[in-house]
Amino acid sequence: MSTAIRWDAHSCLPLLSGIDMGALRRHKKSGFDFVSINVGMDMNPIDQVMKTIAWFRHWLSQHPDEFQLVDTLADVKAAKAAGKLAVAFDLEGSKMLLEDVAMVEVYRDLGVRQAHLIYNRNNTVGGGCHDEDSGLTAYGREVVRAINRAGIMMDCSHNGERTSLDIMETSEKPVIFSHANARALIDHQRNITDRQIDACAATGGVIGINGIRLFLGAEDKFAEPMANHIDYMVQRVGPDHVGIGVDISFDLGLDDHPKNEDRAFWWPPSGRYNRTLVGGAGPEVLPEIEQQLRNRGYGASDIDKIFGLNFLRVAEQSWT
Ligand SMILES: [Zn+2]
Repeated sequence: MSTAIRWDAHSCLPLLSGIDMGALRRHKKSGFDFVSINVGMDMNPIDQVMKTIAWFRHWLSQHPDEFQLVDTLADVKAAKAAGKLAVAFDLEGSKMLLEDVAMVEVYRDLGVRQAHLIYNRNNTVGGGCHDEDSGLTAYGREVVRAINRAGIMMDCSHNGERTSLDIMETSEKPVIFSHANARALIDHQRNITDRQIDACAATGGVIGINGIRLFLGAEDKFAEPMANHIDYMVQRVGPDHVGIGVDISFDLGLDDHPKNEDRAFWWPPSGRYNRTLVGGAGPEVLPEIEQQLRNRGYGASDIDKIFGLNFLRVAEQSWT
C-alpha cells in the first residue's frame, strides 16, 4: 500500500455547535490522511459560522490523539506520521466576510485553508453556477488578491463559469475546484465545462472529483462513475491536475439549515436537488476507485498524484 498522503479536498459535517465530529474517523479508516471540512456557506448567518468554527476547533483540540487541526504542510505530514487525521477548514461563499477583505485573514487564522467565494447564487464577489453570471466584480478581485496574500487555497466550486475564468485570470496562485465533476459527462450546472477544466490546469490547479449521486449520474455504485470523471479529466489535462473531493455530508440526523432559508433559491428545482440525489459516496470509496484506475492501466505514481500529491503541491504553493 502506498505511503503517499491521501487528501480529501472537501467534506461536510452539520454546521452546529456541540456535534460529535467522530464521523471523520471514517476518513482515516479509509486511508485518507487529510480532509478539508466546510465551516460556512453563503446561506449561513455569521453567528452560525462563528459558533461552528469555535466548536470544531474545540472538539478537535479535545481529541489530540486522533485529529490535528493543521496550519502548514509540515503539520499535515506530522499528523500523518503520528497516525492522526489532518483537518483544515474551508469556506463556501463570501457573505461571511461582511464585505470586508480584512476578514479574510481572520478566517485564515481560525483554520480556513481553502475558500470558494460564491455558493450557487450571485453575491457581491461574482456569479454562481445557478445564476446569471456577470463575472468577477471589482470587490471580488480584491477578495481574490486577499485570499492569495493570506495563503488560502483559491477554489472555484459552485461558481459560475465566467466568474471562475475571471478568478483564474486574477489569481497569482494555482486555482482549484475542490469538488466538481465534468459537464461533458453529466450535464448539470454544478459540473464544470471543458473550458474551466483547461483553465484550471493552466493555473497549475487541481479538480477534485466528488461522489455526489446527482453530479455523477449514479445510482448506488460510485467508484466506477468517479473513475470515469477522473479518467475524462486525466485524458484532457493530464494526471497532475486531478484529485478527490468526496463531498460526503455526514448529517448525523441533524438539521443545520438556518430558519427561513429559501431552499428553492439556493438549490433551484432545475438542479433536481433532493435528499436522495444529493447523497453519494463515502470515504470508503477510495480503495474501490484505486481498483478501477488500476483496471484502466493507471500506475502507482499517477494514483498517488490523484489521491493526494496534486492537492499537496497546490497547498505547498498556496499556504505560504
Ligand atoms: Zn459544495
